[in-house]
Amino acid sequence: MSVGADALKVKLGQAVDGLLDELEQLSHRIHDHPELCFKEEKAHAWLTDFLESHGARVERGVGLPTAFRATIPGAGPGPTVAILCEYDALPGIGHACGHNVIAAAGAGAGAALARALGRLPFSGEIQVIGTPAEEGGAGKVKLLEAGVFRGVDAALMIHGRCGTRVWRPSLGIVKVKVEFFGKAAHASSWPWRGVNALNAVIHLFVALDAMRQQIRPDARMHGIIANGGAQPNIIPEYTSAEFYLRSLDRDYCFELLRRFQACAEGAATATGCTATVTPDPTVHEPLKPNATMARLFARNLALIDAPEDPDEGEAGYGSTDCGNLSQVIPTIHPYVRISPDGVPGHSREFAEWARSPLARGGIVVGAKALAMTALDLLASPDALQQAKDDFARGGGAP
Ligand SMILES: [Zn+2]
Ligand SMILES: [Zn+2]
Repeated sequence: MSVGADALKVKLGQAVDGLLDELEQLSHRIHDHPELCFKEEKAHAWLTDFLESHGARVERGVGLPTAFRATIPGAGPGPTVAILCEYDALPGIGHACGHNVIAAAGAGAGAALARALGRLPFSGEIQVIGTPAEEGGAGKVKLLEAGVFRGVDAALMIHGRCGTRVWRPSLGIVKVKVEFFGKAAHASSWPWRGVNALNAVIHLFVALDAMRQQIRPDARMHGIIANGGAQPNIIPEYTSAEFYLRSLDRDYCFELLRRFQACAEGAATATGCTATVTPDPTVHEPLKPNATMARLFARNLALIDAPEDPDEGEAGYGSTDCGNLSQVIPTIHPYVRISPDGVPGHSREFAEWARSPLARGGIVVGAKALAMTALDLLASPDALQQAKDDFARGGGAP
Protein backbone atom coordinates (compact mmCIF):
# COMPACT_ATOMS: atom_id res chain seq x y z
CA MET A 1 0.00 0.00 0.00
CA SER A 2 1.44 3.28 -1.01
CA VAL A 3 1.46 6.11 1.49
CA GLY A 4 0.69 8.37 -1.47
CA ALA A 5 -2.68 6.75 -2.01
CA ASP A 6 -3.67 7.03 1.64
CA ALA A 7 -2.91 10.77 1.73
CA LEU A 8 -5.03 11.27 -1.40
CA LYS A 9 -7.95 9.46 0.17
CA VAL A 10 -8.67 12.40 2.46
CA LYS A 11 -9.09 14.61 -0.60
CA LEU A 12 -11.23 11.98 -2.28
CA GLY A 13 -13.51 11.73 0.74
CA GLN A 14 -13.94 15.49 0.81
CA ALA A 15 -14.70 15.54 -2.91
CA VAL A 16 -17.48 12.95 -2.45
CA ASP A 17 -18.92 14.96 0.45
CA GLY A 18 -18.87 18.07 -1.74
CA LEU A 19 -20.72 16.26 -4.53
CA LEU A 20 -23.23 14.53 -2.30
CA ASP A 21 -26.27 16.77 -2.85
CA GLU A 22 -25.77 16.55 -6.60
CA LEU A 23 -25.33 12.77 -6.39
CA GLU A 24 -28.47 12.35 -4.36
CA GLN A 25 -30.42 14.42 -6.88
CA LEU A 26 -29.03 12.25 -9.67
CA SER A 27 -30.04 9.11 -7.77
CA HIS A 28 -33.56 10.47 -7.17
CA ARG A 29 -33.97 11.52 -10.79
CA ILE A 30 -33.08 8.00 -11.97
CA HIS A 31 -35.35 6.52 -9.30
CA ASP A 32 -38.24 8.76 -10.39
CA HIS A 33 -37.84 7.73 -14.05
CA PRO A 34 -37.39 3.96 -13.98
CA GLU A 35 -36.18 2.67 -17.34
CA LEU A 36 -36.14 -1.00 -18.30
CA CYS A 37 -33.16 -2.92 -19.60
CA PHE A 38 -31.59 -1.56 -22.81
CA LYS A 39 -33.88 1.50 -22.67
CA GLU A 40 -31.99 3.53 -20.06
CA GLU A 41 -31.71 6.61 -22.31
CA LYS A 42 -32.40 9.21 -19.63
CA ALA A 43 -30.07 7.67 -17.06
CA HIS A 44 -27.38 7.34 -19.73
CA ALA A 45 -27.73 11.03 -20.60
CA TRP A 46 -27.79 12.26 -16.99
CA LEU A 47 -24.83 10.13 -15.88
CA THR A 48 -22.63 11.01 -18.84
CA ASP A 49 -23.44 14.74 -18.57
CA PHE A 50 -22.64 14.59 -14.85
CA LEU A 51 -19.28 12.86 -15.35
CA GLU A 52 -18.34 15.21 -18.18
CA SER A 53 -19.24 18.27 -16.13
CA HIS A 54 -16.75 17.14 -13.49
CA GLY A 55 -13.89 16.65 -15.92
CA ALA A 56 -14.02 12.99 -17.02
CA ARG A 57 -13.55 12.20 -20.71
CA VAL A 58 -16.83 10.62 -21.73
CA GLU A 59 -17.67 8.24 -24.58
CA ARG A 60 -21.39 7.62 -25.05
CA GLY A 61 -23.06 4.53 -26.47
CA VAL A 62 -20.00 2.29 -26.05
CA GLY A 63 -20.81 -1.32 -26.97
CA LEU A 64 -24.55 -0.78 -26.36
CA PRO A 65 -26.58 2.39 -27.07
CA THR A 66 -27.13 3.06 -23.34
CA ALA A 67 -23.64 2.05 -22.14
CA PHE A 68 -20.85 4.56 -21.60
CA ARG A 69 -17.25 4.92 -20.59
CA ALA A 70 -15.82 7.88 -18.67
CA THR A 71 -12.06 8.02 -18.29
CA ILE A 72 -9.97 9.68 -15.62
CA PRO A 73 -6.43 9.56 -16.98
CA GLY A 74 -3.30 8.88 -14.99
CA ALA A 75 0.33 9.90 -15.29
CA GLY A 76 1.09 7.64 -18.24
CA PRO A 77 0.45 4.22 -19.74
CA GLY A 78 -0.40 1.53 -17.20
CA PRO A 79 -3.22 -0.63 -15.90
CA THR A 80 -6.91 0.19 -16.15
CA VAL A 81 -9.31 -0.15 -13.24
CA ALA A 82 -13.02 0.08 -14.01
CA ILE A 83 -15.77 1.24 -11.65
CA LEU A 84 -19.16 0.00 -12.84
CA CYS A 85 -22.56 1.67 -12.82
CA GLU A 86 -25.91 -0.03 -13.28
CA TYR A 87 -29.08 1.99 -13.80
CA ASP A 88 -31.88 -0.20 -15.14
CA ALA A 89 -35.13 -0.77 -13.27
CA LEU A 90 -37.52 -3.69 -12.89
CA PRO A 91 -40.83 -4.03 -14.73
CA GLY A 92 -43.77 -2.93 -12.58
CA ILE A 93 -41.82 -2.29 -9.37
CA GLY A 94 -39.35 0.37 -10.56
CA HIS A 95 -36.01 0.74 -8.76
CA ALA A 96 -36.67 -2.16 -6.39
CA CYS A 97 -33.06 -3.30 -6.88
CA GLY A 98 -31.69 0.18 -6.09
CA HIS A 99 -29.65 0.54 -9.27
CA ASN A 100 -30.11 4.30 -8.96
CA VAL A 101 -27.79 4.08 -5.94
CA ILE A 102 -25.26 1.97 -7.86
CA ALA A 103 -25.28 4.61 -10.60
CA ALA A 104 -24.84 7.53 -8.21
CA ALA A 105 -22.09 5.79 -6.23
CA GLY A 106 -20.14 4.76 -9.35
CA ALA A 107 -20.49 8.11 -11.07
CA GLY A 108 -19.75 9.83 -7.77
CA ALA A 109 -16.51 7.87 -7.41
CA GLY A 110 -15.45 8.87 -10.93
CA ALA A 111 -16.41 12.52 -10.47
CA ALA A 112 -14.64 12.69 -7.09
CA LEU A 113 -11.45 11.26 -8.60
CA ALA A 114 -11.58 13.75 -11.48
CA ARG A 115 -12.41 16.70 -9.21
CA ALA A 116 -9.97 15.93 -6.41
CA LEU A 117 -7.03 14.74 -8.47
CA GLY A 118 -7.53 15.95 -12.04
CA ARG A 119 -4.97 13.68 -13.58
CA LEU A 120 -4.24 10.68 -11.33
CA PRO A 121 -0.68 10.76 -9.95
CA PHE A 122 -0.13 7.11 -10.93
CA SER A 123 0.37 5.24 -14.19
CA GLY A 124 -2.73 3.86 -15.80
CA GLU A 125 -6.30 5.10 -15.71
CA ILE A 126 -9.62 4.69 -13.98
CA GLN A 127 -12.75 4.25 -16.05
CA VAL A 128 -16.36 4.50 -15.01
CA ILE A 129 -18.23 2.06 -17.24
CA GLY A 130 -21.99 2.35 -17.52
CA THR A 131 -23.38 -1.17 -17.85
CA PRO A 132 -27.05 -1.34 -18.90
CA ALA A 133 -29.52 -4.16 -18.62
CA GLU A 134 -28.46 -6.05 -15.51
CA GLU A 135 -32.05 -7.10 -14.80
CA GLY A 136 -32.71 -9.78 -17.37
CA GLY A 137 -30.57 -8.46 -20.22
CA ALA A 138 -27.09 -9.67 -19.17
CA GLY A 139 -25.74 -6.33 -20.38
CA LYS A 140 -22.25 -7.00 -19.07
CA VAL A 141 -22.05 -10.15 -21.20
CA LYS A 142 -22.91 -8.07 -24.26
CA LEU A 143 -20.29 -5.47 -23.29
CA LEU A 144 -17.72 -8.24 -22.83
CA GLU A 145 -18.57 -9.56 -26.30
CA ALA A 146 -18.32 -6.03 -27.72
CA GLY A 147 -14.80 -5.69 -26.28
CA VAL A 148 -15.66 -2.88 -23.85
CA PHE A 149 -13.67 -4.61 -21.07
CA ARG A 150 -10.65 -5.29 -23.26
CA GLY A 151 -7.66 -3.79 -21.51
CA VAL A 152 -9.46 -3.54 -18.16
CA ASP A 153 -7.32 -5.14 -15.43
CA ALA A 154 -9.84 -5.13 -12.58
CA ALA A 155 -13.45 -4.07 -12.07
CA LEU A 156 -15.53 -3.11 -9.06
CA MET A 157 -19.00 -1.87 -8.25
CA ILE A 158 -21.30 -1.67 -5.26
CA HIS A 159 -24.86 -2.86 -4.86
CA GLY A 160 -27.38 -1.66 -2.28
CA ARG A 161 -28.69 -4.12 0.27
CA CYS A 162 -30.13 -4.42 3.79
CA GLY A 163 -26.62 -4.43 5.24
CA THR A 164 -23.01 -3.75 4.29
CA ARG A 165 -21.15 -6.90 3.23
CA VAL A 166 -18.03 -7.03 1.08
CA TRP A 167 -18.51 -10.63 -0.02
CA ARG A 168 -21.69 -12.51 -0.73
CA PRO A 169 -21.83 -15.29 -3.28
CA SER A 170 -24.14 -15.07 -6.26
CA LEU A 171 -25.72 -17.93 -8.15
CA GLY A 172 -25.29 -19.04 -11.74
CA ILE A 173 -28.46 -19.08 -13.83
CA VAL A 174 -29.64 -21.04 -16.82
CA LYS A 175 -32.72 -19.29 -18.20
CA VAL A 176 -35.18 -21.45 -20.04
CA LYS A 177 -38.39 -20.95 -21.96
CA VAL A 178 -40.95 -23.70 -22.46
CA GLU A 179 -43.80 -23.72 -24.95
CA PHE A 180 -46.68 -26.17 -25.05
CA PHE A 181 -48.71 -26.79 -28.19
CA GLY A 182 -52.24 -28.18 -27.94
CA LYS A 183 -55.40 -27.73 -29.95
CA ALA A 184 -58.09 -25.04 -29.66
CA ALA A 185 -61.76 -25.94 -29.28
CA HIS A 186 -64.89 -24.44 -27.72
CA ALA A 187 -64.36 -24.89 -23.99
CA SER A 188 -68.02 -25.66 -23.31
CA SER A 189 -69.57 -27.23 -26.39
CA TRP A 190 -66.58 -29.26 -27.69
CA PRO A 191 -63.98 -29.45 -24.91
CA TRP A 192 -63.19 -33.12 -25.69
CA ARG A 193 -62.03 -32.04 -29.15
CA GLY A 194 -59.39 -29.74 -27.67
CA VAL A 195 -55.90 -30.39 -26.31
CA ASN A 196 -55.29 -28.16 -23.32
CA ALA A 197 -51.87 -26.49 -23.35
CA LEU A 198 -52.66 -24.69 -20.09
CA ASN A 199 -52.98 -28.03 -18.31
CA ALA A 200 -49.50 -28.88 -19.57
CA VAL A 201 -47.94 -25.76 -18.10
CA ILE A 202 -49.77 -26.31 -14.78
CA HIS A 203 -48.47 -29.91 -14.72
CA LEU A 204 -44.96 -28.59 -15.27
CA PHE A 205 -45.20 -26.24 -12.27
CA VAL A 206 -46.53 -29.09 -10.11
CA ALA A 207 -43.76 -31.44 -11.30
CA LEU A 208 -41.11 -28.83 -10.46
CA ASP A 209 -42.62 -28.34 -7.03
CA ALA A 210 -42.38 -32.08 -6.44
CA MET A 211 -38.77 -32.04 -7.65
CA ARG A 212 -37.89 -29.24 -5.26
CA GLN A 213 -37.39 -31.61 -2.33
CA GLN A 214 -34.72 -33.47 -4.26
CA ILE A 215 -32.55 -30.54 -5.27
CA ARG A 216 -29.57 -29.09 -3.47
CA PRO A 217 -30.30 -26.39 -0.87
CA ASP A 218 -28.44 -23.70 -2.84
CA ALA A 219 -30.51 -24.32 -5.97
CA ARG A 220 -33.50 -22.23 -6.97
CA MET A 221 -36.15 -22.82 -9.65
CA HIS A 222 -38.81 -20.23 -10.29
CA GLY A 223 -40.93 -19.16 -13.19
CA ILE A 224 -43.90 -17.30 -14.57
CA ILE A 225 -46.55 -18.19 -17.13
CA ALA A 226 -45.95 -15.72 -19.93
CA ASN A 227 -48.83 -16.92 -22.06
CA GLY A 228 -51.66 -18.83 -20.42
CA GLY A 229 -54.25 -18.78 -23.18
CA ALA A 230 -56.49 -16.22 -24.84
CA GLN A 231 -59.84 -16.37 -23.04
CA PRO A 232 -61.83 -18.85 -20.96
CA ASN A 233 -64.13 -20.06 -23.75
CA ILE A 234 -61.23 -21.34 -25.84
CA ILE A 235 -59.25 -24.42 -24.85
CA PRO A 236 -55.71 -22.93 -24.86
CA GLU A 237 -53.82 -24.19 -27.89
CA TYR A 238 -50.58 -22.45 -26.93
CA THR A 239 -48.96 -21.60 -23.61
CA SER A 240 -45.48 -20.51 -22.66
CA ALA A 241 -43.59 -20.08 -19.43
CA GLU A 242 -40.17 -18.76 -18.46
CA PHE A 243 -37.96 -20.08 -15.70
CA TYR A 244 -34.64 -19.38 -14.04
CA LEU A 245 -32.68 -22.41 -12.81
CA ARG A 246 -30.03 -21.30 -10.36
CA SER A 247 -27.23 -22.76 -8.30
CA LEU A 248 -23.85 -21.83 -6.85
CA ASP A 249 -22.41 -24.38 -9.26
CA ARG A 250 -22.64 -23.81 -13.00
CA ASP A 251 -22.67 -27.57 -13.76
CA TYR A 252 -25.54 -28.11 -11.35
CA CYS A 253 -27.56 -25.49 -13.26
CA PHE A 254 -27.29 -27.79 -16.27
CA GLU A 255 -28.29 -30.81 -14.18
CA LEU A 256 -31.40 -28.81 -13.21
CA LEU A 257 -31.99 -28.09 -16.90
CA ARG A 258 -31.82 -31.81 -17.74
CA ARG A 259 -34.42 -32.57 -15.09
CA PHE A 260 -36.52 -29.59 -16.13
CA GLN A 261 -36.63 -30.95 -19.66
CA ALA A 262 -37.85 -34.32 -18.37
CA CYS A 263 -40.60 -32.56 -16.35
CA ALA A 264 -41.68 -30.58 -19.43
CA GLU A 265 -41.82 -33.71 -21.57
CA GLY A 266 -43.76 -35.51 -18.84
CA ALA A 267 -46.26 -32.65 -18.66
CA ALA A 268 -46.67 -32.71 -22.44
CA THR A 269 -47.19 -36.49 -22.50
CA ALA A 270 -49.72 -36.36 -19.67
CA THR A 271 -51.84 -33.77 -21.48
CA GLY A 272 -51.41 -34.82 -25.09
CA CYS A 273 -49.48 -31.69 -25.99
CA THR A 274 -46.06 -31.26 -27.46
CA ALA A 275 -43.36 -29.26 -25.70
CA THR A 276 -40.48 -27.14 -26.92
CA VAL A 277 -37.81 -26.29 -24.35
CA THR A 278 -35.44 -23.47 -25.32
CA PRO A 279 -32.57 -22.62 -22.98
CA ASP A 280 -31.17 -19.08 -23.30
CA PRO A 281 -27.65 -19.31 -24.80
CA THR A 282 -26.43 -16.70 -22.28
CA VAL A 283 -25.62 -18.40 -18.98
CA HIS A 284 -25.16 -16.25 -15.88
CA GLU A 285 -21.97 -17.32 -14.16
CA PRO A 286 -21.59 -17.46 -10.36
CA LEU A 287 -19.54 -14.64 -8.86
CA LYS A 288 -15.87 -15.50 -8.45
CA PRO A 289 -14.43 -13.93 -5.29
CA ASN A 290 -11.27 -11.84 -5.31
CA ALA A 291 -9.72 -11.88 -1.86
CA THR A 292 -7.22 -9.06 -2.46
CA MET A 293 -9.74 -6.61 -3.85
CA ALA A 294 -12.22 -7.53 -1.13
CA ARG A 295 -9.56 -6.85 1.53
CA LEU A 296 -8.73 -3.45 0.04
CA PHE A 297 -12.41 -2.55 -0.10
CA ALA A 298 -12.96 -3.66 3.52
CA ARG A 299 -9.96 -1.60 4.62
CA ASN A 300 -11.42 1.46 2.93
CA LEU A 301 -14.79 0.83 4.56
CA ALA A 302 -13.02 0.86 7.92
CA LEU A 303 -11.20 4.05 6.94
CA ILE A 304 -14.48 5.88 6.29
CA ASP A 305 -16.08 4.38 9.39
CA ALA A 306 -18.60 2.25 7.52
CA PRO A 307 -17.79 -1.22 8.79
CA GLU A 308 -19.33 -4.41 7.50
CA ASP A 309 -22.53 -5.66 9.11
CA PRO A 310 -22.69 -9.23 10.39
CA ASP A 311 -24.31 -11.63 7.96
CA GLU A 312 -27.81 -12.17 9.31
CA GLY A 313 -27.70 -15.63 7.75
CA GLU A 314 -31.34 -15.35 6.77
CA ALA A 315 -31.34 -14.36 3.12
CA GLY A 316 -30.46 -16.57 0.18
CA TYR A 317 -28.46 -15.39 -2.79
CA GLY A 318 -29.34 -13.69 -6.05
CA SER A 319 -27.42 -13.53 -9.28
CA THR A 320 -25.70 -10.86 -11.33
CA ASP A 321 -24.20 -10.46 -14.78
CA CYS A 322 -21.17 -9.23 -12.82
CA GLY A 323 -20.59 -12.96 -12.24
CA ASN A 324 -19.68 -13.37 -15.91
CA LEU A 325 -17.29 -10.44 -15.69
CA SER A 326 -15.73 -11.93 -12.54
CA GLN A 327 -14.87 -15.08 -14.52
CA VAL A 328 -12.90 -12.96 -17.03
CA ILE A 329 -11.15 -10.30 -14.92
CA PRO A 330 -10.60 -9.73 -11.18
CA THR A 331 -13.89 -8.27 -9.94
CA ILE A 332 -15.64 -7.43 -6.69
CA HIS A 333 -19.33 -6.71 -6.11
CA PRO A 334 -19.68 -5.58 -2.46
CA TYR A 335 -22.96 -4.56 -0.86
CA VAL A 336 -23.63 -1.36 1.06
CA ARG A 337 -26.53 -0.71 3.34
CA ILE A 338 -29.43 1.28 1.89
CA SER A 339 -32.26 -0.24 3.94
CA PRO A 340 -32.86 -1.59 7.45
CA ASP A 341 -32.18 -5.27 8.16
CA GLY A 342 -34.39 -7.84 6.53
CA VAL A 343 -35.88 -5.81 3.66
CA PRO A 344 -35.89 -8.07 0.59
CA GLY A 345 -34.57 -6.82 -2.73
CA HIS A 346 -37.07 -6.68 -5.60
CA SER A 347 -39.81 -5.60 -3.18
CA ARG A 348 -41.83 -2.39 -3.24
CA GLU A 349 -40.48 -1.69 0.23
CA PHE A 350 -36.88 -1.86 -1.00
CA ALA A 351 -37.77 0.50 -3.87
CA GLU A 352 -38.82 3.08 -1.26
CA TRP A 353 -35.62 2.61 0.74
CA ALA A 354 -33.61 3.15 -2.46
CA ARG A 355 -34.76 6.79 -2.29
CA SER A 356 -34.30 7.33 1.45
CA PRO A 357 -31.74 8.94 3.78
CA LEU A 358 -30.21 5.47 4.19
CA ALA A 359 -29.72 5.36 0.42
CA ARG A 360 -27.97 8.73 0.62
CA GLY A 361 -25.64 7.09 3.14
CA GLY A 362 -25.11 4.20 0.74
CA ILE A 363 -24.12 6.61 -2.03
CA VAL A 364 -21.49 8.24 0.22
CA VAL A 365 -20.05 4.95 1.42
CA GLY A 366 -20.14 3.40 -2.05
CA ALA A 367 -18.60 6.36 -3.87
CA LYS A 368 -15.80 6.77 -1.33
CA ALA A 369 -14.90 3.10 -1.01
CA LEU A 370 -15.03 2.58 -4.79
CA ALA A 371 -12.83 5.61 -5.53
CA MET A 372 -10.34 4.67 -2.80
CA THR A 373 -10.12 1.02 -3.79
CA ALA A 374 -9.65 1.86 -7.47
CA LEU A 375 -6.90 4.26 -6.48
CA ASP A 376 -5.25 1.60 -4.27
CA LEU A 377 -5.06 -0.75 -7.24
CA LEU A 378 -3.33 1.85 -9.42
CA ALA A 379 -1.10 3.13 -6.62
CA SER A 380 0.22 -0.30 -5.75
CA PRO A 381 1.31 -2.55 -8.63
CA ASP A 382 1.82 -5.27 -5.99
CA ALA A 383 -1.82 -5.12 -4.91
CA LEU A 384 -3.03 -5.34 -8.50
CA GLN A 385 -0.70 -8.26 -9.14
CA GLN A 386 -2.02 -10.00 -6.02
CA ALA A 387 -5.57 -9.50 -7.28
CA LYS A 388 -4.54 -11.08 -10.59
CA ASP A 389 -2.87 -13.95 -8.73
CA ASP A 390 -6.09 -14.57 -6.75
CA PHE A 391 -7.97 -14.59 -10.01
CA ALA A 392 -5.56 -17.06 -11.59
CA ARG A 393 -5.82 -19.31 -8.52
CA GLY A 394 -9.61 -19.41 -8.87
CA GLY A 395 -10.61 -16.70 -6.45
CA GLY A 396 -9.80 -17.77 -2.93
CA ALA A 397 -11.82 -17.07 0.16
CA PRO A 398 -12.19 -13.36 0.83
ZN1 LIG B 1 -32.02 -7.08 -9.11
ZN1 LIG C 1 -29.44 -5.35 -8.79
